[in-house]
Amino acid sequence: MLTSPVIKLQRTGAPMPQVGFGTWKHTGDKATEAVEAALKVGYRLLDCAADYGNEKECGLGLKHAIDEGIVKRHDVWVVSKLWNTFHRKEHVRAAVKKSLADWGVDYFDIYYMHFPISLEFVPFETRYPPGWFFDGKSQVKHDNVPIQETWEALEELVDEGLIRHLGVSNTNSALLMDLLKYARVKPSVLQIEIHPYNVQTRAVAYAQSQGVAVTAYSSFGPLGWLVFGTSKSAHTQPLFTHPVITAIAAKHPGSTPPQVVLRWATQRGLAIIPKSDTVEQMEQNMKSSGIKLSEEEMAAIGMLDMGLRFNDPADGFEGCHIFS
Ligand code: NAD
Repeated sequence: MLTSPVIKLQRTGAPMPQVGFGTWKHTGDKATEAVEAALKVGYRLLDCAADYGNEKECGLGLKHAIDEGIVKRHDVWVVSKLWNTFHRKEHVRAAVKKSLADWGVDYFDIYYMHFPISLEFVPFETRYPPGWFFDGKSQVKHDNVPIQETWEALEELVDEGLIRHLGVSNTNSALLMDLLKYARVKPSVLQIEIHPYNVQTRAVAYAQSQGVAVTAYSSFGPLGWLVFGTSKSAHTQPLFTHPVITAIAAKHPGSTPPQVVLRWATQRGLAIIPKSDTVEQMEQNMKSSGIKLSEEEMAAIGMLDMGLRFNDPADGFEGCHIFS
């Protein structure tokens, strides 16, 4: 069985797996099978969110693996995220409890605020997950909930043992700086979009300087966003055929371009959560930590930076389409 290196989280000293398994866009029975397969391969962190609409299916995959004796609950980091429509203090608890029930677990190892953007409340019975958009055309309206209100409600759930570590996602350094001023329970992890086209040097340096671990999502850049058929993802040079990446892979016998892209991230001290579709990808991605890139190779990949984001919360203002 493969194993991941770990990153010690400052608040508790707990060892977070550096290579986790991304579950976004895994749906239905395939999500259940993928989670079970990932746990068999050796993944011990499952990155999910209420918004992914697959928490029940992922939870079933975890249950199968526990029933088969592959893992125990405490071996696995179960990770979820608060959706934007549940930012009001009176909705946070119910949202967390629903996600816990869907997963079939009684605590989350990490629970993120998914976006620093509050949207109007949508009751579970009306639509779940509520999303940014509905009916194929309408956008959920913005709400006026300050992040501090949401954060304090989340802190209470840490006190009660429903959440082990809090995280923030899709926030910039200024916002993280502000949050660190009032947070009684500091965020342990920042999860942001990072790949060679969006290196985020300063955001990573600031978070790490504050003892906040950083998890990179969408490590493969445009690839994870192609399903939406957006022009941005379709017109960006795929990373796996980029000459800088292929040349580096060629210098490391047995390595592949996806592994080089992932290793560039983990060698920066970042955690990664690639979404693998096959057992072969799961194994390949987990084995990426075995490569050692030179300083020159790390720098050459870093030079691909264009500040290009495929998931920019600033696009989430009313009237703008986030996936345009
Ligand atoms: P990704 O960058 O992990 O790319 C996924 C794609 O890469 C899939 O098409 C998969 O088939 C392919 N792939 C994976 N391993 C491969 C390999 N070894 N060789 C060839 N192809 C390979 O995509 P992503 O889903 O955008 O990001 C990963 C995870 O990050 C998500 O599943 C989710 O958990 C998380 N995420 C979080 C946020 C957030 O707002 N916090 C946003 C996006 C994603």
